[in-house]
Amino acid sequence: MPLWKTTAYNLTESDIRYAMSNSKSNRAAAMFLKVSLPTYRKYAKLYIDNESGKSLYELHKNMSGVGIKKRFPYAYSGKHGVASILRGEQPEYPSRQLKKRIIKEGFKAECCESCGFSERRVNDYTVPLILVWIDGDKTNHLLDNLLLICYNCFYLTQSDLFNRRADRIDFKGYRDEN
Ligand SMILES: [Zn+2]
Repeated sequence: MPLWKTTAYNLTESDIRYAMSNSKSNRAAAMFLKVSLPTYRKYAKLYIDNESGKSLYELHKNMSGVGIKKRFPYAYSGKHGVASILRGEQPEYPSRQLKKRIIKEGFKAECCESCGFSERRVNDYTVPLILVWIDGDKTNHLLDNLLLICYNCFYLTQSDLFNRRADRIDFKGYRDEN
């Protein structure tokens, strides 16, 4: 498998399709292949799906958002609306609460953005997910800077789940366009 941020890696059509079948968005597919989003995009746009006439990138784009809950009407209003947090207006907002709210209020689906894992544990019916700040700045709550991944994917892409150094892993290039 390629390393993070490898630029000289050639992705074949079957690599892309395999990643697509294991993910729910282009960003997740890129993570699945452990390449940056721009690298993934470059190749995913090269291959055209015969059936739809669309590039694989376009084809997979439609998948993002599937399963995302309808947004809470109050999410957009007021100082404490989660939208204001996701616009970066409340950098001090606690991260535990933030993770709960972006799921509950429908800004992200409750599943791993890398592999689509969404199994719930019995006692509280939650999915084991970790909130990752792409730029490593845990006060940068912009929606584009946030990534929800499962413990398994976190472990596979970080050196050590409980190692503080994991915070420094570079998630840049994983911002989707939407
Ligand atoms: Zn995962």
